[in-house]
Amino acid sequence: MTNKPESWLTDPEERLKRKNTFDASIVMGTANFNRDTGRQDNLHPPFSQFIDPNTGMLRLDMLRARDCPVCGRPPGPGLFVKDGFRHVRCPNCQLIYVSLILREDLMIKYWQEELAWSKVLASGPQIEMDMAKYAYGLDLASNYLTESRKLLDVGAGTGTFVRYAIEQGFETTAIEFNVESVDNLLQEGIQIIVKPLELADLPPHSYDLVTMWEVLEHLADPKVVLAEAKRLLAPGGYLLLLVPNAGSLVTRLLHEKSHTFGGHSHLNHFDPKSLSLILKNLHYEIVELETVITELGTINNHLGFEDPYHGQAGPFCEDLTPKLIHERLWGSRLLALARPSA
Ligand SMILES: [Zn+2]
Repeated sequence: MTNKPESWLTDPEERLKRKNTFDASIVMGTANFNRDTGRQDNLHPPFSQFIDPNTGMLRLDMLRARDCPVCGRPPGPGLFVKDGFRHVRCPNCQLIYVSLILREDLMIKYWQEELAWSKVLASGPQIEMDMAKYAYGLDLASNYLTESRKLLDVGAGTGTFVRYAIEQGFETTAIEFNVESVDNLLQEGIQIIVKPLELADLPPHSYDLVTMWEVLEHLADPKVVLAEAKRLLAPGGYLLLLVPNAGSLVTRLLHEKSHTFGGHSHLNHFDPKSLSLILKNLHYEIVELETVITELGTINNHLGFEDPYHGQAGPFCEDLTPKLIHERLWGSRLLALARPSA
């Protein structure tokens, strides 16, 4: 690996081609991907113990309220309720978020014991798509990094990214507290810290790259974790983030039918503006911000009156291409690379 920019980075067509290699709707088809990763069984595990059967809403003794996690304003009008969780939009910064969330102890227990989503992550087609996505992200970040390669992966999950980063020569530490994932990673000899990042008490300026692959959307207070990541970055260090994009075409079309909404686990729904705002407020400078993964098959199914995730509809419109979707930042995930600005 060198610091010389790779040609795919500067050539928009080559860059799009590389993005398409981990866009499941293009590579293997939406219905096939959802079936073969077991998403239909494992996406929304039963969590009826959190719900009051009389109201259909999160139980009063299990909830905590919160204001906008980006700008701190009180919640605006509700957008919709999904699975007993109220989703609102901030009247100030427009962030869509869950306003009444699980108590912290219950949420930590949930993540410690969670098994269903780990099964999806460990499925063959998911690993295939994730590996190509991680390679893209790590190559992107590597173009900005110096030769020093200490990496901290926050929310390592089943460890697909951590294994890849180690293979690529990064001295890698994982943060994870899911019991099964921790056991597996320890058995493989992977360096792991079994605590939330903000409680890990790591020495300042000790990492060249901090990665958070689909982590920020799960956090009750993403600001605390982003601030801690900044404290941990060495001079010349970068933060690499991937989050679901609430401004994506697929989410704008499906609203609460979108799998991205599920209030027990996805608490914050960033779009390009709100992600930029939270990073700017914490004195990060964004050097790359783009979308990846179109979910074009899901979009076509919905527009074709078929089940969005399991339908087989053909293209709705020839002009609706991955190129257009990513040019408008309408892709289903936001990928950002940022560095401390102060
Ligand atoms: Zn706000």
